[in-house]
Amino acid sequence: FNVPTPVNEPVKTYAPGSPERKELQKALAEARSKQIDVPMYIGSEEVRTGNTHPMSPPHDHKHILGHFHEGDASHVTQAINAALGAKEAWEKLAWEQRAAIFLKAADLLAGPYRSKINAATMLGQSKNAMQAEIDAACEFIDFLRFNVKYMSEIYAQQPPVSGSGVWNRLEQRPLEGFVFALTPFNFTAIAGNLPTSAAMMGNTVVWKPAYTQIYSANVLMEVFKEAGVPDGVINLIYVDGPVAGDIIFKHPDFAGIHFTGSTGVFQHIWKTIGANINTYKSYPRIVGETGGKDFVLAHKSASPKALAVGLVRGAFEYQGQKCSAASRAYIPSNLWEDVKKYMLEDLASMKMGGTEDFTNFINAVIDEKSFDKIAKYIEDAKKAPGVEIIAGGNCDKSKGYFIQPTVILTQDPMYRTMCEEIFGPVLTIYVYHEEHFETVLELVDQTSPYALTGAIFSQDRYAIELATTKLRNAAGNFYINDKPTGAVVGQQPFGGARASGTNDKAGSMINLLRWVSPRTIKETF
Ligand code: NAD
Repeated sequence: FNVPTPVNEPVKTYAPGSPERKELQKALAEARSKQIDVPMYIGSEEVRTGNTHPMSPPHDHKHILGHFHEGDASHVTQAINAALGAKEAWEKLAWEQRAAIFLKAADLLAGPYRSKINAATMLGQSKNAMQAEIDAACEFIDFLRFNVKYMSEIYAQQPPVSGSGVWNRLEQRPLEGFVFALTPFNFTAIAGNLPTSAAMMGNTVVWKPAYTQIYSANVLMEVFKEAGVPDGVINLIYVDGPVAGDIIFKHPDFAGIHFTGSTGVFQHIWKTIGANINTYKSYPRIVGETGGKDFVLAHKSASPKALAVGLVRGAFEYQGQKCSAASRAYIPSNLWEDVKKYMLEDLASMKMGGTEDFTNFINAVIDEKSFDKIAKYIEDAKKAPGVEIIAGGNCDKSKGYFIQPTVILTQDPMYRTMCEEIFGPVLTIYVYHEEHFETVLELVDQTSPYALTGAIFSQDRYAIELATTKLRNAAGNFYINDKPTGAVVGQQPFGGARASGTNDKAGSMINLLRWVSPRTIKETF
């Protein structure tokens, strides 16, 4: 069978007066007008524990969108048992049948569920319409369609060579046990991709989303059910991370973790798995995409206008809460005044507020904990010697968790906001002497432990070549004359190394191969 050749889902613009804008506004109004009751999904059951917690828009935290039912350790065990119970039938199902389910899920998201998933992401995670569209709709649709294509290629791989009298075969088996998908708040597409990519390869999954993403996770689960994902194949639980981890990482059938989130949590998980290694039937697959401290480096030959646009978009789209967000920049002195002027002009035109007003570019950060952490970095910067705030700097959590896009200028390239992941709308800039490009390359490489994304802006081919070579290990996704965000599935496979993850490139064959365990069969005649 040939699966359809995927093309990237076209991005809708939501222009004023367009039918898609009207439909999205209707979905937003409908979502705001009622409170929903969100159960966990374990096997064939919708589980309501009565231990409910409110879900609110980060930009309007007094408004309640609904409540979710939190589970405890017993629900983790139930979810594992449901996954193990569903495993035999699911892995026996022909891969074409599994492919059809996930292609249908993509079509549902592209059509009837598009407004609903975008509205849920706008309200639940405070993304503006465009940021929701490129995430919850387009990127997740692309993950599903491209992964189905890669899956078909894995199953169609050339068999091993067989000599006369011998038939050698290679069988791509699902992992023995269940897979744990532990997902972050910041991309609905990632939350959907981590359970589905493992499930596609014949595994059954326990999925625990971030609590701040449950509102849109619930819509994804609705889509999976309607697409025909059988009961028990993806089990969605809302249980405190350490409580879930305590059961899962001690379970003999734990076969792998598909994680995206912070570096600290991933390292803790890795150590826990290491400590329990004798418990498991197999060495678990450990796949994790983690934090970043992503750089923009400019050479003296760069275009100041393009650079300013790249900095502002790269740093402040979705309030800087992208793992790939530009958060440290190295600008040559000859360009600085122009770059600063263009950046300040661009920032002055950006409105901040709720997602329901489509003219707002900046919305709220995800929750109070994030707000307090980011605000503390900004307050500290206001007092630090040799550090100056040149844009933004105001924070207000009275109605929503709003932080103005903030630009910090530092004379110290090792100042903490140049090195640590803040995960908010804060960009720190170090202006270097324009002739010290090579020294700065060293700095970029050594300043932070992360290696997720990075960008070089230059019109000089020698400088591009030098940066590409010297920064070979400083980023898993490297951009030349573009912002370091916005990787597109099928075009720029995404993932970083060093403290940024295992670099198993989300939305690629590399990633899908982590969810199978090949068996070689030799038959002699
Ligand atoms: P997080 O690490 O706080 O949470 C991720 C998931 O782990 C959540 O479901 C959370 O509940 C769970 N968790 C937290 N502590 C746990 C514990 N002790 N045991 C078990 N589970 C636990 O991350 P987040 O705030 O949701 O997301 C932001 C982070 O994700 C940033 O660091 C960002 O860089 C990273 N991220 C990376 C990528 C990438 O591709 N590299 C993509 C998106 C986000």
